[in-house]
Amino acid sequence: MSLSKKYFYHIAVGLFIFYSMPYAEADIFSDIAEKKGFGDRVEELRNFSQLEGYPKRETNINDKYKGPIVDVLHHTHAYWGQLRKHLRRKGRDKPTINSEDMIEMTKSLGVVHSITSEPPRIKGLYGDPIGFAQKHRTFSALCSPHFVAYEHQGRMKRARQLLNQVEKNLRNKNCIGIGEVGVKHFNKSEKHYEFSNSTHVQKNVEISFESLNLKRALQLSHIYKVPILLHLEPRHTLHRIDNVEQAKDWYKRICQKYRNSKIVLVHNGMFEPKHLGYVFDQCLNMYSSFKIMRPSWNYYWKFHDLHIVNNMEPKFAERWAKFMEKYPDRMMFGSNIFLRKMRKRRTQNTYREIIHSVRMMIGSLSKEVQKQIMYETPIKVFRLNLKTHQ
Ligand SMILES: [Zn+2]
Repeated sequence: MSLSKKYFYHIAVGLFIFYSMPYAEADIFSDIAEKKGFGDRVEELRNFSQLEGYPKRETNINDKYKGPIVDVLHHTHAYWGQLRKHLRRKGRDKPTINSEDMIEMTKSLGVVHSITSEPPRIKGLYGDPIGFAQKHRTFSALCSPHFVAYEHQGRMKRARQLLNQVEKNLRNKNCIGIGEVGVKHFNKSEKHYEFSNSTHVQKNVEISFESLNLKRALQLSHIYKVPILLHLEPRHTLHRIDNVEQAKDWYKRICQKYRNSKIVLVHNGMFEPKHLGYVFDQCLNMYSSFKIMRPSWNYYWKFHDLHIVNNMEPKFAERWAKFMEKYPDRMMFGSNIFLRKMRKRRTQNTYREIIHSVRMMIGSLSKEVQKQIMYETPIKVFRLNLKTHQ
């Protein structure tokens, strides 16, 4: 290559890079990625998540959604495990925010009803959402998903006993559904732990599609005509796991077999809108809830292959905004809030910030669908009677 050709080549490449970055944020994104040691993977990350540097839905502050909110995915009825250990280490006996504080906080934020449940995990299975919801009328509870944990530990008898208890609770209307069932929950911390000082390590929690306990849980949701919330990560790129097609086939099978179930794929099914749309079109009894990404690099890296709906600003990715407008009768909001996430003074406003952000993001959608997603759809799906709950 001659000198002038080389010179021309560099200018051409420079211009190409310049024009392929439509937003100033794209620069910040690659700066952070490089600082964190992902320099060689910036474009791969960007392409796959389609968030930073891709079309997003702008919101005007005047359009912020001001209506009522139902939050279908709380985990705030108890502080557990890590939080207790953390407090003990710090010599404190009280967390910055406790379960009872959530009552006032949700009310003051216009979250008129919350559904609290045990998250997928395999240790510390003592949380009691039912007891909490019986005390507080703005909260409802889901029945325990921990048959997964027991099966994971090989305690099959315990798993069956727990499902007997779930059936009793459904019959007595102590809970309004089952969840959050961790069908496939991977250790996502390993995607970023070398690059962060976060000490929280997630656990792999998994159950086979053919598990008899899982079938029984689905059958209970069919018999009692209640929602069952499923957490299924179809991919874990670090380990080259890609179960997208198997997951879609399984969804098609279970939605036909358990016709009266309302199957809720939490966190937008954790795959692309086209896959979730396919599942919705095949299965009229399937729904989804979305959570939003907090503006942190760890969060981005954990979820980059799980297609979370918003970028770091946070704004809806345009492809998800369009999706919400197409399926407002199937989509709900589930913040996935844990007390653990608000344990420090610096993070005690996390839930307030989430609600502020989601009101801004929802305000970017067409007017007709906003209240549907945030209020009307969850009321229908969970058959909430808010008059008796307020
Ligand atoms: Zn989850």
